[in-house]
Amino acid sequence: MSSDTNTQEGGCTCGHVRYRVAAEPLVVHCCHCRMCQRQSGTAFALNALFEANHVVLLQGEVDEKMVDSPSGRGQTIARCPKCRVAVWSNYYMGGIKEMIRFIRVGTLDNPDTLPPDVHIFTESKQPWVVLPKDDQAVEVFYDFEQVWSHKNNQRRKELLDIATNKT
Ligand SMILES: [Zn+2]
Ligand SMILES: [Zn+2]
Repeated sequence: MSSDTNTQEGGCTCGHVRYRVAAEPLVVHCCHCRMCQRQSGTAFALNALFEANHVVLLQGEVDEKMVDSPSGRGQTIARCPKCRVAVWSNYYMGGIKEMIRFIRVGTLDNPDTLPPDVHIFTESKQPWVVLPKDDQAVEVFYDFEQVWSHKNNQRRKELLDIATNKT
């Protein structure tokens, strides 16, 4: 194990897929949108966002499948081909496709370290879910400058620069 506290490993339930993330997340979303509810079969999705190149597949491979997202532009869900557990997805974000990876926090070996930074799409939050009083929460989405740290907004701008130079 690395002594770097920002390095974490995770994987699917059968052990075929193993991955490592070697960065602090850009942000952790607790998403209460209807699509996350349906796709997860439960009340919300908990996703930690990283630059895709900070997520390293250590073992196995993933099956990617496009599904709907609230933006209408879709997201690609990456699943273990054997046990079908979703380990992450790639979303369009600020014009960037597949440069930000949404790790399913529950697939990390130590998921307790990444509580949500913000609750999104609370307009469709299931009514029994009571949010901690001091948590940031928005009905739909938020302004990056207000929610992400200054340092992480710089990381976001670096990704945007790469995306712009590519086209
Ligand atoms: Zn598996
Ligand atoms: Zn959602």
